[in-house]
Amino acid sequence: MTTPLDTLLAAVRGCTLCAAHLPLGPRPVVQLAPTSRLVIIGQAPGSKVHASGVPWQDDSGERLRAWTGLDPATFYDPAQVALLPMGFCYPGAAGGADLPPRPECAPLWHARLLAALPARRLTLLVGMHAQRAYLGTARGTTLTAAVQAFAQAPAGRFPLPHPSWRSQGWMRRNPWFEQQVLPALRQAVRHSLA
Ligand code: SF4
Repeated sequence: MTTPLDTLLAAVRGCTLCAAHLPLGPRPVVQLAPTSRLVIIGQAPGSKVHASGVPWQDDSGERLRAWTGLDPATFYDPAQVALLPMGFCYPGAAGGADLPPRPECAPLWHARLLAALPARRLTLLVGMHAQRAYLGTARGTTLTAAVQAFAQAPAGRFPLPHPSWRSQGWMRRNPWFEQQVLPALRQAVRHSLA
């Protein structure tokens, strides 16, 4: 039987709204199910994920799984984990870095997709774009300050840096992340899935 969420996901996968801005064309990469109690809101797929169609199947995904303590089987089980970037398609790159998520995407799809999930859930906000959208983080706030204030985030929301290669240097400069944030993150993740 086709559910309303199946219909919505089919609409997402057929979306071409900002095709004119996507150098490799639309390929929305999303994972979720009505029972997903851990939601990971990232930025946008990179070119590797665009090619595979598998979310977080790259070095950043490896780091995110290490941070959260999630094994690949759990991470890729939509019954447990929703993977919902701020932009569902690869936005292209400039100056050696990926462009920001397309601004049309989250306003068009997120509210409807999130409404299909359990009310009690943990949402990991990975990177500044997700934190601005879901924590109201002010534009002048550094990512370091936003993550350092993780304990003050509203219940059910957890800010994280993007786990790109740059995060390794950032972690060396900010040892409190490994000492304080990661243990709290793993505990919150375990609790959300228990
Ligand atoms: S990025 Fe989002 S809005 Fe743009 S084509 Fe892909 S799914 Fe549609």
